[in-house]
Amino acid sequence: MKARFTGNVIMGETAEIFVEGKSLQAEVLQINPDPANPGAGIVEMQVFEDLTGAVIGDLVEFTGKPLSVQLGPGLLTSIWDGLQNPLYKLAEQNAYLIPGIKAPALDEERLWDFTPIVKAGDEVKGGDVIGTVPEGRLTHKILVPFSFGKCSVVSIINAGSVNITREIAQIKDERNKTHSLKLVFHHPVKSPIPFRERSIPDKTISTGVRVIDLLAPVSYGGTVGNPGPFGAGKTVMQHTLCKYALADIIIMAACGERAGEAVEVFKDFAELKDPTTGENLMNRMCIFGNTSSMPVAAREASVFIALTVGEYYRYQGYNVILLADSTSRWAQALRERSGRQGDIPGPEAFPMDIPDQIKGMYQRAGVDSGTGGSLTFIGTVSPAGGNFQEPVTQATMDSTGGFWGLSQDRADAKKYPAIDPLAYTSSIYDGFISWKDRNRILATLNEANSIDQTISTIGLKKVPVEKYILFQKGLTIDFCVLQQDAFHKQDACTRPERLEILNEAMQKLIGNDIYFSENGKDDEELKEMIKYRFDELRQWWKDWNESAQSDEEIRELIAKIEEFISQEEYAQ
Ligand code: ADP
Ligand code: MG
Repeated sequence: MKARFTGNVIMGETAEIFVEGKSLQAEVLQINPDPANPGAGIVEMQVFEDLTGAVIGDLVEFTGKPLSVQLGPGLLTSIWDGLQNPLYKLAEQNAYLIPGIKAPALDEERLWDFTPIVKAGDEVKGGDVIGTVPEGRLTHKILVPFSFGKCSVVSIINAGSVNITREIAQIKDERNKTHSLKLVFHHPVKSPIPFRERSIPDKTISTGVRVIDLLAPVSYGGTVGNPGPFGAGKTVMQHTLCKYALADIIIMAACGERAGEAVEVFKDFAELKDPTTGENLMNRMCIFGNTSSMPVAAREASVFIALTVGEYYRYQGYNVILLADSTSRWAQALRERSGRQGDIPGPEAFPMDIPDQIKGMYQRAGVDSGTGGSLTFIGTVSPAGGNFQEPVTQATMDSTGGFWGLSQDRADAKKYPAIDPLAYTSSIYDGFISWKDRNRILATLNEANSIDQTISTIGLKKVPVEKYILFQKGLTIDFCVLQQDAFHKQDACTRPERLEILNEAMQKLIGNDIYFSENGKDDEELKEMIKYRFDELRQWWKDWNESAQSDEEIRELIAKIEEFISQEEYAQ
């Protein structure tokens, strides 16, 4: 959209467009001189909301501020659209999202128990803690906005109940200018909140998903791209991580996915429990729901808003996981915008700088050893036709430490989660199991996979018995360990103690030769018997996954494997 202006306009500042009495948010993308009016200009804007009803002559007001997010207590448990309009609040005004309806991002009436930490005369700077309020079970640190340099505290209120509109302190900057502070402040979404002391991610997250925690682990502060074709299980994976990954805070940016899916999430999650505290799951979450029915430009904003909220809590010392589904929809928003602007397109019409934009996004994740917090970023990618060669998947691969490729074949075969055990990367050396153990599992899967191909090309007959046994071992690891039912109460989540037992069982199975007694059987009969015994083992193991809970029951797996390896009960 274009608008004429006189006076000053800054690149990237936001504007409000008044259409039929509503105000719509927009952002300035380009500023050009107005050929018809010397001294005046024309701005090109992207409007974040539906422009229906706009006519030539509608008023535009420039705010002088870049797109920003409101940070402060009350962020958790909230559900917003991509511009931080609270969806629940809006629903109270009207059942549907109507463009231009605004509600405050954070509850203005709610009272918070404020405890000051600094006193008048103290020196503070941007990011310093001036007090705290309890937010659920977390201690929300009230920070000096990051835009401030060195300041001194002029006054601060005593401990007590305050809402977010009230002044809690005054600080004076080096030019002797006094500023009023509240529990909340705005921060521009495209300026990353700094690290105190950035360090390398090194602590593995227990996600509860076996294939991840065993083979492709992710650490606090790490980054992962999770590409997969439509229906391969990206969204289910994100929801599983939401429910089970161990973290203080989970932020979900549901970006451009189907509206029905978003509604399901809201309903579903409200009834779930946090795996560490047993409290309502939403207490550790906030959701930016930006479904495909909302304007495309808001998608671009939503990821940046979610990142900024994540950085804000990292700065307070919390472990935050940001889940974005899907970053391809986000990239498409950039594509649409640059198309409209008439930029020279890069590969597949994405903007030329899409790799840098994607890199810039993932770089905002990381560990801050200065605060003890971390921000982990796990983004799905939905390449058309599942083609990983396209620009967004490629740029994601270059930008993230970990990569979980979902395979169409595995999804078609209902082998969930469909992470291809032969198409992933992880930046962690020793996670919950040693590198050596991980490699032995991988080698077995690899070999089983090539034997499988041999079987389908030249037939089972030509495959030696030892190879067939190896193939069955690989099949067992895949079926009993890597595959996991995200919807089964017991199977959905596996913690490290149990992974250790699983690893012990797998290493025993891999490391021991198993002799099946021939007993006068021909090759075909022998292989049939081997398959039968492995099938039995797999069934038993699957039941174990879905039931064993006490320490003793869990150890039974090891006994079972030992018995299986020795094949004693069959040896006659
Ligand atoms: P995508 O987001 O990649 O398009 P979804 O996450 O919506 O795909 O998954 C499609 C379907 O696959 C789900 O509705 C579910 O039936 C099945 N599915 C995916 N992952 C799992 C899983 N771990 N366990 C069980 N079913 C799964
Ligand atoms: Mg999906």
